Amino acid sequence: MNSNSKRTGVLISIQDSLVKARYNENVIMGETAEILVEGKFLQAEVLQIVSDPKNAKLGIVEMQVFEDLTGAKIGDLVVFKGKALSVLLGPGLLTSIWDGLQNALYPLGKQDSYLKPGMRAPALDEEKLWDFTPMVKPGDTLYGGHAIGSVPEGRFIHKILVPFGFGKCKIQTIIESSLVNITQTVAIVTDEHNKEHELKLVFSHPVKSPIPFMERSIPKKTISTGVRVIDLLAPVAYGGTVGNPGPFGAGKTVLQHSLCKYALADIIIMAACGERAGEAVEVFKDFAELDDPSTGESLMNRMCIFGNTSSMPVAAREASVFIALTVGEYYRYQGYNVILLADSTSRWAQALRERSGRQGDIPGPEAFPMDIPDQIKGMYQRAGADTGSGGSLTFIGTVSPAGGNFQEPVTQATMDSTGGFWGLSQDRADAKKYPAIDSLVYTNSVYDSFISKEDRDQILKTLQEANDIDQTISTIGLKKVPVEKYVLYQKGQTIDFCVLQQDAFHELDACTRPERLQVINMAIQKLIKTPIHFSNEEGDVEELKEQIKTEFDQLRLWWKDWNANAKSDAELAGLPEQIENFVLQEQYA
Ligand code: ADP
Ligand code: MG
Repeated sequence: MNSNSKRTGVLISIQDSLVKARYNENVIMGETAEILVEGKFLQAEVLQIVSDPKNAKLGIVEMQVFEDLTGAKIGDLVVFKGKALSVLLGPGLLTSIWDGLQNALYPLGKQDSYLKPGMRAPALDEEKLWDFTPMVKPGDTLYGGHAIGSVPEGRFIHKILVPFGFGKCKIQTIIESSLVNITQTVAIVTDEHNKEHELKLVFSHPVKSPIPFMERSIPKKTISTGVRVIDLLAPVAYGGTVGNPGPFGAGKTVLQHSLCKYALADIIIMAACGERAGEAVEVFKDFAELDDPSTGESLMNRMCIFGNTSSMPVAAREASVFIALTVGEYYRYQGYNVILLADSTSRWAQALRERSGRQGDIPGPEAFPMDIPDQIKGMYQRAGADTGSGGSLTFIGTVSPAGGNFQEPVTQATMDSTGGFWGLSQDRADAKKYPAIDSLVYTNSVYDSFISKEDRDQILKTLQEANDIDQTISTIGLKKVPVEKYVLYQKGQTIDFCVLQQDAFHELDACTRPERLQVINMAIQKLIKTPIHFSNEEGDVEELKEQIKTEFDQLRLWWKDWNANAKSDAELAGLPEQIENFVLQEQYA
């Protein structure tokens, strides 16, 4: 879709981010354009073309503009770029922070992390030198996606690829091992028509064309996220997808930050999409200073962040998620395990809703575009595992339904599109039971856990029964509950309080690795499966229940303390021992 001719148009209508322009030469669906407004070029994308019935080269286009249109007037110049919305791929992506259009935010020294409309910052550092080592020689035949060399990017090997759009091509020249920046040519190739192309360390790729898999495979290997309720009951595998809906304040963002810090992956990409600007700026600052707990290096060395906050134009949100996905696919292709965290996909969907509303499309449920389920599915489908490259792209998206109503279209479509589902509950958040993932309602996962399916089912069954007894207690009272049931209820409460609840801000408790999880599971299973006989001499059932509660309260305090302090192997082994003693001891008051 490259075109060198200067194709232009003029604005004839402006309606928020949606504009119409009359054009003078063929326009291509989906190509980008720039609109000259008060001396600055604003980025836009062609959405619809209505050509003149008498002359196909003339007509009207409808475009969405990704930047604030304040000051735009009828008659303003439009220049068509002949290129779909693209992202720049190459070394330097890691450690970067951009806005939703891949403008680098930090190099500009922006305090408020917000570019003014029309301001551009190069996506990648153009001066930084990279230590290039060639992998091919003149005369070699290659295809798009093949590596011509590599550079070290932090602790990663970053392969320099022939752009994916290329067919068969032949290396004419390639530089020796040397230090180069991203503006320099490292190789010249000829295509099948003998046309020469200069290859650099970077190339741009259209964000709506997924980067191919080498050999797609079913996500199998479970990720250690460090979050117990997830790793035990609703796990996610490398290359998997998860929807994480929850009402405002239920802990979606805190959970994403936990995953950022503790989930075992090579690379983490954050797409902060339409959430509060203050929150995003905080993340930039915090994460720049945080260390990666598994390497001790700065967390940013394995991260990049797209910050597209609520104060930025809505249309750019749509772009930001696709840009982040493409960067994720690129590193998967390089052989790395990548996790993409998008917060929130509801804001992304709102951008689509606003656009389709302005375009006058027939609206679907709650005014979302009719095809919103397909668009959501299409987004999650770009995640996946690749046995060919050895890499994976895991996509975890938050959903923020108004009023926490999970019946709304975006939450529903997400449930249909993802392999895992972590529903956060208002009740749990209100009770400060964090993370507020409700393991009984709306929690689901097709992936393997770190514990056996039987053990996982046992835990869920106990939680369910304890929950039912809880309901009984609150409706008809504790008196009507027999002692065995009350013990079961206390067991469920213990699992919830000591295992499922986890302090995201506590140094040790924040992250539980699989070995520790196994110890915990041993304790849980022992607790669940061993009948405990409580009795007292007087035979006073109500007093006995009081005593049972006291015993369990003590156990829970002990366990919480273990969560916060147990480190050595001996200390770890203390938990199963404690449970063993607790369940075996005939408890007399
Ligand atoms: P959301 O993104 O769903 O609107 P947040 O992630 O901002 O909600 O969480 C709101 C507040 O809840 C946080 O500021 C924090 O005080 C508390 N919180 C959430 N999750 C946890 C957690 N795992 N541990 C401790 N506190 C939490
Ligand atoms: Mg949030």
